Amino acid sequence: MTIRTRFAPSPTGYLHVGGARTALFSWLYAKKSKGQFILRIEDTDRERSTKASVQAILDGMAWLGLKEDEGPFYQTQRFDRYNEVIDDLLAKGLAYRCYCSHARLDALREDAMKNKEKPRYDGYCRNQNGDESKPHVIRFKNPLDGVVIVDDLIRGKIPFQNNELDDLIIRRTDGTPTYNLTVVVDDADMQMTHIIRGDDHLNNTPRQINILAAMGKTPPKYAHLPMILGDDGARLSKRHGAVSVLQYKEEGYLPEALLNYLVRLGWSHGDQEIFSLREMISLFDIKDVNKSPSAFNTEKCLWLNQQYINQADPAYLAELMPDFYRKIGVDSSQGADLIEVIKAHQDRAKTLVEMAEITAYVYQDYTDFNEKAAKKNLRPVAKTPLIAIQKALNALTEWNVDTIHQAIIETAAQLEVKMGKIGQPLRVATVGCAMSPSIDITLQLIGQKAVYRRINKALEYIKKREENG
Ligand code: GLU
Repeated sequence: MTIRTRFAPSPTGYLHVGGARTALFSWLYAKKSKGQFILRIEDTDRERSTKASVQAILDGMAWLGLKEDEGPFYQTQRFDRYNEVIDDLLAKGLAYRCYCSHARLDALREDAMKNKEKPRYDGYCRNQNGDESKPHVIRFKNPLDGVVIVDDLIRGKIPFQNNELDDLIIRRTDGTPTYNLTVVVDDADMQMTHIIRGDDHLNNTPRQINILAAMGKTPPKYAHLPMILGDDGARLSKRHGAVSVLQYKEEGYLPEALLNYLVRLGWSHGDQEIFSLREMISLFDIKDVNKSPSAFNTEKCLWLNQQYINQADPAYLAELMPDFYRKIGVDSSQGADLIEVIKAHQDRAKTLVEMAEITAYVYQDYTDFNEKAAKKNLRPVAKTPLIAIQKALNALTEWNVDTIHQAIIETAAQLEVKMGKIGQPLRVATVGCAMSPSIDITLQLIGQKAVYRRINKALEYIKKREENG
């Protein structure tokens, strides 16, 4: 049997972290089993579904690299099929027309509330023959007794009493099919073998199993993933910060890092933290998913991203960086080789946004010195070393790490000072702040002309300082 899983988002918002984790687990399970992963857009709620949201979901999935083997399928394109199934259920007496007014349904609900019972439809129209031309909904005839057992791959067997499930609406008055019906028809038609989804759907599952049975279909296997909590213990939501997957992209996360973070939300393999995609695929198993909720930890996600940036192929990061430079108005197309810039800073950035910020100095002159660094390092005593090193560097006919290094050593020897007496003022003079990779690499990246120009700026600063006493 070929394993077939799906991700079936409703396009009513962006692709959030919880949805992405569901998609990842479904995708991994399919890949692990050499099966197929299907993407289905559940857009039947026309009021809440938007094109922008469909696009955000597709973009998010593409960014994460969770490629579907089939789809995307759109439920709005399958209404004929849903109606065919509904009509068939009607014809077989497994569904019925319900003409109950809102007022009647409201009264039922109020009664239930008064008696502290779960509001449910009382089956009033089950055996009535109404006038088909009058407005009506179609309800599924749920079995009246017996028990449905959801044999969940994560939680084990969960029994649901049929007398607790009412006859749910499968076609609205306007003729559109409802969620539980469309999902079931699609899962059957698309030959799903495993439904991996959030546990907010657990209560729908016995109903879906009943509808499948009425359609003469064997239900697939189900796995309901425990929810994800924010660091405050409440269900993860917008107020916990970045929950849209594409926001992570904007913030300079690598998709590999986010996937690695997501896979650990509710799943573990010993105490291993870092998983390549290949490892995830081979090690993942749905039965190892935790039963209890997991908490989203922003710090840990950031830490993982840092690890991934640190280890990444510089050429890969170089492809991603121009977008991040553009956002802060830096043009990286001229000047130092971006791959070299990245190599020199890879161990210093937690995100690509940070990478752009801390390397901007390579491509453009700083506007202002970091005040603290300038106060400490651009003092009058730094004037002589700066003038000397500026001269030595300017005289170099070859501009590389070795010649720069040599020039610094020689200048320090001439002035009879330690390298640090030259290095740190030189760094602040050329970078604008006190942090950068080793000074020779830093200068090499900045380039000979810019180094000269920037040292002048530092000398001016010192001069002003002297004038002001
Ligand atoms: N469309 C549903 C949702 O976005 C998911 C349905 C399912 O996975 O069965 O919540």
